[in-house]
Amino acid sequence: MKQKIKKWTLRLTVTGLFIAGLLLILILNPILTYANKTTHKTFTIYHNTKLDPLLTSQLDNANDLLKTSEFYNDKLNLDICLNDGSKYTRLIEIIGGRQFARGFYDKVVLFGNANFKENYVELQGYKWNLTQLLAHEMTHCLQFAKFGFWKSKPIANIDNWKWEGYAEYIARQNTNQKDLIKNLDRLNQSDKIVGNNI
Ligand SMILES: [Zn+2]
Repeated sequence: MKQKIKKWTLRLTVTGLFIAGLLLILILNPILTYANKTTHKTFTIYHNTKLDPLLTSQLDNANDLLKTSEFYNDKLNLDICLNDGSKYTRLIEIIGGRQFARGFYDKVVLFGNANFKENYVELQGYKWNLTQLLAHEMTHCLQFAKFGFWKSKPIANIDNWKWEGYAEYIARQNTNQKDLIKNLDRLNQSDKIVGNNI
């Protein structure tokens, strides 16, 4: 009996590791779940449908905002994963929860419905400025590149106001958006509406 339990524990562990490994490969290689890949400067955009050319200027504008960060790194190549029919966004959503977008490692994943012409992403009736959303998530990638895997969220226990507040500080630079307290209130507000952070 003991022998049998041991055997099954081993089998389950191996299966678990295999599935985790498979998920990791899928997460690190968006090309496996997207039909198309387009390169724009340091960005690689993954998409299923025809790419809206407006996105490239929105990426440039987001990148300009990033340049104000002391963590800015012009060698950093980022993957931009669009929510246009790929299973990739669903996979990240299942693992990390539903939100406007997510920035981790060297990837920015959009979950909401993007309107490139009007420059916003909509999720459950709530809109977020697309350029600023991209800059926010890219800032998380800069934080990750600077601090590394173990000292970044969600592995490291960093206060949300620091981690998110910094991303908002970089992303929201319009003259009427300089109030960090108001920005954090806004983040908390979206948290209540959408049920998760950006
Ligand atoms: Zn964030």
